[in-house]
Amino acid sequence: MEKLRYERPIVQKMNKGLMNKFGTRTEYEPVTHIEGVPVKSMISQYGSPLFVISEKQIRRNFQSANRIFKTRYPKVQFAWSYKTNYMDAVCKVFHQEGSWAEVVSGFEYEKALRNGVPGNKIIFNGPDKSDAELLKAAQNNSLIHIDHFDELYSLIKISEDNHLKPRVAIRVNMDTGIYPKWDRFGFNYENGQAWNALTRIVNSDNLELVGLHCHIGTFMLAPWAYANAASKLCELAWSLKEKFKMTIQYIDLGGGFPSQNTLKGSYLPGSDTVPSIDQFADAITDVILGYGFKHEDLPMLILETGRALIDDAGYLLGSVLATKRLSDGRRSTIMDFGVNTLFTAFWYDHKISPAQEFGHHSEEMVLYGPLCMNIDIIRESITLPLLEKGNHVVVHKVGAYNMTQWMQFITLRPNIVMIDMDNHTHVIRKAETLDTLLENEQIPSHLEYNPLTPVASSTVETSKV
Ligand SMILES: *Cc1c(COP(=O)(O)O)cnc(C)c1O
Repeated sequence: MEKLRYERPIVQKMNKGLMNKFGTRTEYEPVTHIEGVPVKSMISQYGSPLFVISEKQIRRNFQSANRIFKTRYPKVQFAWSYKTNYMDAVCKVFHQEGSWAEVVSGFEYEKALRNGVPGNKIIFNGPDKSDAELLKAAQNNSLIHIDHFDELYSLIKISEDNHLKPRVAIRVNMDTGIYPKWDRFGFNYENGQAWNALTRIVNSDNLELVGLHCHIGTFMLAPWAYANAASKLCELAWSLKEKFKMTIQYIDLGGGFPSQNTLKGSYLPGSDTVPSIDQFADAITDVILGYGFKHEDLPMLILETGRALIDDAGYLLGSVLATKRLSDGRRSTIMDFGVNTLFTAFWYDHKISPAQEFGHHSEEMVLYGPLCMNIDIIRESITLPLLEKGNHVVVHKVGAYNMTQWMQFITLRPNIVMIDMDNHTHVIRKAETLDTLLENEQIPSHLEYNPLTPVASSTVETSKV
């Protein structure tokens, strides 16, 4: 057996607030394999840090959510939220499962087209659509979700000029009972703005009103907020029917269902507090089915669920660079990934597991990233076995927003690997190199001369001090 390393004994101050009433949670079961593939072998093959995505888990998540909604409501369609994770391989798994694409920028729109999504199965959301992008979306018969009056007027003009009649919906924001209110996107329900926009669309010869959309927030823990939202969208659909004899084709309730991550500062872990998708599905479908639409008039229900379908399919593998004692005696462990790579460390207390067997001792510690920045903290306080230089860890539930919000800052972005249905690994995004960055840099010619560049065959002169 390996000799245990000596650790200087320390006296530690009791930290009030560290324990909850269930005692300190033990977060330390070793996780040596992901979908049957050894963590060690992935790190030696693809480097550390390394993002790993399980294709199996994505498909399990999708099929489960799809079944939950389809057993409760006759017409359901999911649309994959590109900004949550727009790695092409990830998007393609969702599209194979039948998901449409939900995009919020011109660049994401292009990505969806290149992934083979037909234009009429792309939902174009967001406040930033250029005239050229609106024209393209209109020509492709995409579903354009209008965010504000300026966009509405631009689209009317573009459609007139080009003799098009694009299919549109409006994004509605409303008081769902969750505060602060999300009222910066779309048209407000309570003050009549949404109805005003609808009447303008209905009275325009160049727009075809097909749907009503909302996205009421993100990491929403309250199913009843979705019930409120569904009810207000139904109310608008009902009024359109009564006043204009118009039947809306779909109601889109956006995304925002929580994943099972633990929000910073919460009392209990996410796995204990987050409602299940069944509860959201019940809340939403009870309202729509109970509203009184005739069966043939029931709107299709679109869902743009992002994080709840991908978070637990993503892992970040990393290694310990060093350990040290802080001046107050606390143990600190420095990892080779920081908030640049694990952006969601800003709002989640991610579960982190050692990736190898360990001794009996555990200790509260701070987990730092490798950046030369004080904000680079992965976990302020986590109780783990005494990790040593070269040990590996697995960070859980990192599939949402990290691979799109990560920053190239100080270090380069690592490889992303997907484990397929047969447990084979594939690189789906190569690690960046210095060349990746230099590709877009340009040097003005007057800066090309560098007096520090050694000249071949001349002797180096150094000034004597
Ligand atoms: C971000 C976003 C989503 C997905 O949100 P999640 O919290 O990942 O489920 C869906 N629709 C719109 C309009 C969005 O902006």
